[in-house]
Amino acid sequence: MPGPVGVRPEVLAAMTRPMIAHRTPAYEALHATVSTGLQGAFGTSRPVWLLTMSATGAMEMALRGLAPGRIVSLVNGEFADRFAQVAEGCGHTVQRCFAPFGGVVPLAELEAALVTGDVRAVTVVHVETSTGAASDLAAVAALARHYGALTLVDAVTSVGAQPVLADAWDLDFVFTGSQKALALPPGLAFAVASERYLATARANPRRGLYLDPLRAHRYALASQAPTTPALPLLFAAEVQVARVAAEGLEARWTRHAEMRAAISAWVDAVRADGIDLRIVAPEGARGAGVTACVVPDGIAAEALVRRVAGAGWTLGDGYGPLRTATFRVGHLGEHSVATLHPCLDVIRTALDDLMG
Ligand SMILES: *Cc1c(COP(=O)(O)O)cnc(C)c1O
Repeated sequence: MPGPVGVRPEVLAAMTRPMIAHRTPAYEALHATVSTGLQGAFGTSRPVWLLTMSATGAMEMALRGLAPGRIVSLVNGEFADRFAQVAEGCGHTVQRCFAPFGGVVPLAELEAALVTGDVRAVTVVHVETSTGAASDLAAVAALARHYGALTLVDAVTSVGAQPVLADAWDLDFVFTGSQKALALPPGLAFAVASERYLATARANPRRGLYLDPLRAHRYALASQAPTTPALPLLFAAEVQVARVAAEGLEARWTRHAEMRAAISAWVDAVRADGIDLRIVAPEGARGAGVTACVVPDGIAAEALVRRVAGAGWTLGDGYGPLRTATFRVGHLGEHSVATLHPCLDVIRTALDDLMG
């Protein structure tokens, strides 16, 4: 399932530790360990903010920090459209650039939107979880920068599963949620912002309070939380960042890339047997942590997901308009090719049964 993903027992167990006071050196040490422990996954040397909210809260924070203005949203799926909706809700004027079915928005479309005037920021989802498509963040950010726009990135399904290089790619606001590739329970968001983003936010006097990015940054610099943090989740995060470090980030990325390759080879094999199963996202633009598949004509994806559930595996249903035609395999978090294969075998059996 593409989130919430399974969490290791020792990580879950950390949540039962006694609570601590959060205005203390003990909390600051916990905060610093988790925050610095996440820098590699974001490709940054900047402070990673630990936010008590789900990922959509961080999405809103990114947009709430900026004074209302023109925003260009790259829309290639449900989460990318949510980003655009949040921008509208925060009072921005949003222009949506659409992608061909299942793919990513062509850079020429983005450029056409940027040349027309004063665009404050571009919103982009790195890996669109409803389709599995991966956008080229470095190219999007370079183009946005060329036209003086900030790049705001939903990296919810990519941080921890594949390289996200906030500093090297010059990204201005990048966030993820705890319940995806970092394999933590839901309830935390993590984010990092550039100096350029912070300077733009300073010019906006109406940033609210809970979602004020400057407040988040100010407290993060002191390894503190602006409001009472979700301590049990941070206890879990402390254990998990140590586990991620022990595996090694490169090894974690490789493990996810291997799962992407394994499911792609499996779909090829299914097709070779005459079953018209297809991967939604085009080759070369597929995220490492999630794959959406279009089921053959005449099969209801929900029926397939139900059968697979009966055999003990939880798949993601199709999302949004793709609900009846697709299912999604979340090969992220603690999964590996070894745990993915038995699941794919079960899907194959269910396909065979439903095809009669
Ligand atoms: C899961 C997901 C979200 C939403 O996260 P919440 O934690 O439910 O707010 C946003 N964007 C993407 C790409 C996601 O996969």
